[in-house]
Amino acid sequence: MAQFRFNALREVLNREPAAFVREENLISDYYGMMVFDQAKMKKYLSREAYKAVTDAIENGTTIDRKMADQVAQGMKAWALENGATHYTHWFHPLTEGTAEKHDAFIIHSADGGVIEAFSGKILAQQEPDASSFPSGGIRQTFEARGYTAWDPTSPAFISETTLTIPTIFISYTGDALDFKTPLLRALSAVDKAATEVCQYFDKNVTSVRTNLGWEQEYFVIDEALYMARPDLVLTGRTLMGHASSKDQQLDDHYFSSIPTRVNRYMQDVENEAYKLGIPIKTRHNEVAPNQFEVAPIFEEANLANDHNQLMMDIMQKIARRHKFRILFHEKPFAGINGSGKHNNWSLSTNTGVNLCSPGKNPKSNLQFLTFVVNTLKAVYDHQDLLRASILNASNSHRLGAHEAPPSILSVFLGTEVSKMLDLMEEAVVDRKMTPDEKTALKLNIGRIPEIILDSTDRNRTSPFAFTGNRFEFRAVGSSANNASALIVLNTVVANQLISFKKAVDKIIEKGIKKDEAIFQTLKDLIIESKPIRFNGDGYSVEWVEEAKKRGLTNITNVPDSLASYLRPENIALFNKMGVLNESELHGRVEVEYEKFVMKIQIEARVLGDIAINHIVPTAVEYQTMLLENVKNLKEVFSAEEFESLAGARKNLIREIGEHVSAIKALRKEMIDARKVANIITDIKQKASVYDTSVRPYLDKIRYHIDKLELIVDNEKWPLPKYRELLFVR
Ligand code: ADP
Ligand code: MG
Repeated sequence: MAQFRFNALREVLNREPAAFVREENLISDYYGMMVFDQAKMKKYLSREAYKAVTDAIENGTTIDRKMADQVAQGMKAWALENGATHYTHWFHPLTEGTAEKHDAFIIHSADGGVIEAFSGKILAQQEPDASSFPSGGIRQTFEARGYTAWDPTSPAFISETTLTIPTIFISYTGDALDFKTPLLRALSAVDKAATEVCQYFDKNVTSVRTNLGWEQEYFVIDEALYMARPDLVLTGRTLMGHASSKDQQLDDHYFSSIPTRVNRYMQDVENEAYKLGIPIKTRHNEVAPNQFEVAPIFEEANLANDHNQLMMDIMQKIARRHKFRILFHEKPFAGINGSGKHNNWSLSTNTGVNLCSPGKNPKSNLQFLTFVVNTLKAVYDHQDLLRASILNASNSHRLGAHEAPPSILSVFLGTEVSKMLDLMEEAVVDRKMTPDEKTALKLNIGRIPEIILDSTDRNRTSPFAFTGNRFEFRAVGSSANNASALIVLNTVVANQLISFKKAVDKIIEKGIKKDEAIFQTLKDLIIESKPIRFNGDGYSVEWVEEAKKRGLTNITNVPDSLASYLRPENIALFNKMGVLNESELHGRVEVEYEKFVMKIQIEARVLGDIAINHIVPTAVEYQTMLLENVKNLKEVFSAEEFESLAGARKNLIREIGEHVSAIKALRKEMIDARKVANIITDIKQKASVYDTSVRPYLDKIRYHIDKLELIVDNEKWPLPKYRELLFVR
């Protein structure tokens, strides 16, 4: 057994960095070459068809069948010229990752052979046999029909030899079965609500788009070591492993020189990404050993999210070439930093204004403050929903531990913006003044000074931070589909903007000037949302106390957190915003509960198996060796000498025995706890029982295994240790 571990280590030490052929050309020469983008559409489509697609992208118009046929012909021609043999509808089911089913372009020809064909009908809609995707009861297996439908706003691309068409995935009743459908609805809700608010400031604004810049953190592990850890292979995280004496204490990994093997891997990934039009910009070492980050230039949120999903897929695939495995799990290693996926979020107008960036003059600053304050209020009112969007089995290990945001939602604004809000809060706006007095007062918007942001004004400990021209939602987990967070964020912001507009209009109706009405309403929102503002250390214990005093919620367990989706007011909210109807919401939450239960169930089984198959036999073998040794000592030495020589050894034998017995007993208890949980039919209750009565065994059993790891002869230990997983490369 230990042989396996040492062979793996030897294999890693003998590795050469994979040969890497650098592209001869500039990135700009091959960027997007595998994407059916606007330039290619122009070349391959008729004028009419080109216009139909660009209209659909820009104005959300529908593409009729005739036009779709033309687009399909153009796409096919381009795809065949570029080596594609197959096509697929690509979608984001509620599982992790994406789904695809490839079909060859061929159909029978009259002469008994085949020809390549593709049509508007196939481009626009498909009916995959989708009965195995989770729907949370929306789709019964006997009516398993699910449809994928083309999303023209995210361009088709060629992945290896397959023309890949981004699509939504819905049931035959039109209910969303995926992440993309509600994401598109939520983006459109914000577009509508924000555009109306922008009309106060600029009549030329006709649309507002959401931008997303994701920062993806991940661990890189050598394939041989990974394969020697069944827990990593099956659960994506280590279920056991004593802390390495050295890990990240010296902060010597963050931003340090990127190891050559990893660097070659990154370049390889980036090349692929560029061909697929993913604008990767940044790569660096992260805090934990063997942890890294990749980030693109931000893009429109739906496209950016497709790109993130695609990128995660590419990263896994290319890792094989370099004999690596990528860990996207939020907490692959206990005791050191986990991985997140910061969602940098902003709104911008068709006139090119970033609504999350302070303007150059008082008027645009009032617009900026409008969006900041409304976002603040939305986060404050919907802390629980935002948390529910990001808290799951894996991310719950990360939140609140080692340099990760806690489960408490708060917003960091930085000194400058905070000062502005304080000024506005103190400004005299007396509702009871007569209209004449009010005119006299002429609430002077001019006093909003130019806001100069200090770029060092950062706070890494905040789960939701304003960073100069955007908000960063940092609590999002590394393995997540960003859509989960964005669906909620955009829904609550859209809702808030609508109620803001109502409030302002009401004041305007009373004959008060627009700017003043906006100012007054913002002032109210600033006061109401004050408790969510926190510029201090989000990692500190004091903050937990302080947040409690402020009445902020701090739900750390997944089942309770998920339940917030189904509060009547939240069901009404998603419904009103047209993002998710009640049955879609129920379905989604049920899927999340299922996932939670399955993940813990799998972890429990894997840990139980490894404990019995790997750990206990190894410990017993070592114990037997010690027993032999004691017996031999007894034979050779006098009774008196023997006692002093064998005392410590006997204790060690006892200690091993105790840990082994504890592991066996706890494993049995864990199995019994699972049996109790498994017969519960109510899925939320089942998840809660899994959380409270099965999950704790993972840590309890691990405790004894980790103790044994310290005691048992290194030569015998079967699993690569933390120090090896994190430092051997
Ligand atoms: P840091 O680690 O300092 O937060 P990075 O450069 O790693 O910054 O990542 C920042 C991310 O934020 C990038 O994806 C970047 O494109 C994105 N970003 C920058 N400005 C905006 C904006 N206005 N809206 C959305 N995302 C943005
Ligand atoms: Mg960042």
